[in-house]
Amino acid sequence: MTSLSAKLLSWYKEEKRDLPWRRDGDPYKIWVSEIMLQQTRVDTVIPYFQKFLARFPSVSSLAEADEEEVLTYWQGLGYYSRVRNLHEGARQVAAQYGGIIPDNLQAIKKLSGIGDYTAGAILSIAHNAPCPAVDGNVLRVFSRLYCLTEDIMTAKAKKNITEIVKRVLPAGRSGDFNQAVMDLGATVCTPASPRCPSCPLAIDCQAYQKNRVIDFPVKRSARPPRPTQLAVGLLEHNGSILIRRRPAKGLLASMWEFPTVEHVEQDEMMVRENLRQVFVFLGLDVNVGSAQQKLTHTFSHLKWFMTVYDCTMKEARIEVPCPWRWVEKRMAHTITWAGPHAKIVQP
Ligand code: SF4
Repeated sequence: MTSLSAKLLSWYKEEKRDLPWRRDGDPYKIWVSEIMLQQTRVDTVIPYFQKFLARFPSVSSLAEADEEEVLTYWQGLGYYSRVRNLHEGARQVAAQYGGIIPDNLQAIKKLSGIGDYTAGAILSIAHNAPCPAVDGNVLRVFSRLYCLTEDIMTAKAKKNITEIVKRVLPAGRSGDFNQAVMDLGATVCTPASPRCPSCPLAIDCQAYQKNRVIDFPVKRSARPPRPTQLAVGLLEHNGSILIRRRPAKGLLASMWEFPTVEHVEQDEMMVRENLRQVFVFLGLDVNVGSAQQKLTHTFSHLKWFMTVYDCTMKEARIEVPCPWRWVEKRMAHTITWAGPHAKIVQP
């Protein structure tokens, strides 16, 4: 074991975070947690994880569940392709491996949604397999430790750091080592203000020793999310609200939203008229009233600026074709909403 690994493991023994998916080395729990933790903070994930596991305590229970229900348990976490892949992966495990998650790299990486990082995390934490698990935390810590000048967003930098991690991964303790680096990155070697004087690796860290921590990791500036203006219609009639299912592919696939149009013009009358045309297309005679609510929501590549208009029917309700539907407003909490649309009908 290298001295760096020994210091890290000894620090981890004292400082490791008590997280609900870490208590019994169950690969299913590790899998679910790692998928939830992608793009999401630990504090946010914990209550979702507990609710999800209470309802789907095993791979088999998740595999057997209806997708609509699984999505409901993910509501609020965003990035729904993650849970769709997890669900599909659980079905593959049930169908191909009798409900037992495979314990070898080749097989586990064939499961839906499992890439190098998740495979490494599951195999090392559950089985102590000698697999690195290189995520953003690990990239940051190692780029600082060795003053790596490669842009950490590149495949070349990731490959290089993966090789370094493989060299320092202690035999038989890979799970603890990987979790130690995750914890160090999350609690000490943080992106904005690393606590170097409290770091167990301060003496080994080239960036700290050269007083260059601020220079690492090297990261190309990410493109800012594209601003998108949306007009949203809240049409309520006889206690029901009108909603539409988004297409089965793409952003927020198959989730439900209110009638929405994207617009570029700023003229209020024009925006309302464009929104009214959505209803006209459905054969509904609707009055688009004033703006009642403004919401913003940021995705990795898009930023939605939503203005919600109160709408009223001018005539008796008529049926609407698929993918539209009326839903009773009191049942709105059961709908799998497309991201920020959930906030429009909060009780
Ligand atoms: S000394 Fe500072 S920069 Fe280096 S690994 Fe520790 S916290 Fe990160």
